[in-house]
Amino acid sequence: MLNTGNNASLAERDLNVLWHPCTQMKDHEGAPPIAIKSGKGVWIEDYDGKRYIDAVSSWWVNIFGHGNSNIADAIGKQAHQLEHVILAGFTHEPIVELSEKLVNLTPKGLSRCFYTDNGSSAVEVSLKMSFHYWLNKNGNNKKHCFINLGNSYHGETLGALAVGDVGLYKDTYGPLLLQPITAPSPDNYLRAEGETAEAFADRQADALEQILEKHAHETCAIIVEPLIQCAGYMRMYSPQYLRRLRALCDRYQVHLIADEIAVGFGRTGTLFACEQADITPDFMCLSKGLTGGFLPLAVTLTSDEVYNAFYDDYDTLKAFLHSHSYSGNPLGCAAALATLKEFETRNAVQNNLALSTYIANKLAPLKDHPNVADIRQTGMVAALELTPDGSRQTEFPWQERRGLKVFKHGLKNQALLRPLGNVIYLMPPYVITESEVDHLVDVITQGIEIAVA
Ligand SMILES: *Cc1c(COP(=O)(O)O)cnc(C)c1O
Repeated sequence: MLNTGNNASLAERDLNVLWHPCTQMKDHEGAPPIAIKSGKGVWIEDYDGKRYIDAVSSWWVNIFGHGNSNIADAIGKQAHQLEHVILAGFTHEPIVELSEKLVNLTPKGLSRCFYTDNGSSAVEVSLKMSFHYWLNKNGNNKKHCFINLGNSYHGETLGALAVGDVGLYKDTYGPLLLQPITAPSPDNYLRAEGETAEAFADRQADALEQILEKHAHETCAIIVEPLIQCAGYMRMYSPQYLRRLRALCDRYQVHLIADEIAVGFGRTGTLFACEQADITPDFMCLSKGLTGGFLPLAVTLTSDEVYNAFYDDYDTLKAFLHSHSYSGNPLGCAAALATLKEFETRNAVQNNLALSTYIANKLAPLKDHPNVADIRQTGMVAALELTPDGSRQTEFPWQERRGLKVFKHGLKNQALLRPLGNVIYLMPPYVITESEVDHLVDVITQGIEIAVA
């Protein structure tokens, strides 16, 4: 075990050889990366002994705490028995058991599990499968387009990036990307003054219907993040939109892809976000929380209807010839099974209801802050939007990086609060305590004063 470093020396060595994700490396001049030595529960600790509450679940993956010993033990046990095996032509007990559980837990009608090793790849699989389904089904190769939502995010590989809509990540690569048809976002922050969330959802669904009338014949699928557009600044919307979406997809013969990579596994208050609209998508993509934040693993679930359209003699080329070296890795599956067990033994979905209410009450006083335009929350995700004058119409220019000031204040005060532009959010592991929530909200409150000054 490498335990001899300190922050400064590790950061210096790091900056000689690493290139960090989603980072302008020049930003590290004067702000070196922080070297984390260990984690326990919501806390991570650096090599100089400084501790931070991981308010963002290490990019939304951790749900039952760092160093969770049940998950760690399950991985260790599995590693000694079978670390990995090719999944084409072979199988193993952890993946069979996990697949049975996922089919049981996800909305009724999702009956098949296809494994990958990261969220973007799970999205790529759903896009390719949908396209290939229409081809297999009726030789229909007119269907080659996808509809996405404004402000959506689905990952960084070229296909997944193409069906996202966050310009900051996407615009640079425009010439490389397939072109989706973008429907207006149901983001409730954009509703008109006095309009209810449901009425706004209906209005945006009407706009989508107009697009479908024109483009359904060439559209394979609509891809959405159910209830929360997380990377798109934690914007949230009514389940009503999902109900309308399901009906529209049925009527116009277009697949519905639910990207629950960020919102799945209890984030929105139910085990899966689609439950709140009582719908079953044609494809559901899962990753992030799937292994409790321990290992990279992803899965795309789909229906018998889709599966059967690929089932034929080999020479028809109807098979889905897609694979990844680490597809369905047994260690990842063991971690996922241990994570699902944590949901049961901790009664986590139920407990999160009380915890999310506590977070809501704690944040409520900030509603009146002159620089807070909005506080929104869905289950275990709460976000607040900083503006110059408290109105929804004006924003601090992103170049001013106000959220970053809150982040920096947090680092000095035991809090990892990585912002999204002008949005500060809490998306903590479910094992956070009330007093730890209190601390985070105190730090945010002070941080806002510094950021808006
Ligand atoms: C994180 C994320 C992805 C991409 O997953 P990776 O594992 O980072 O490739 C896709 N969709 C959503 C909604 C996400 O939040």
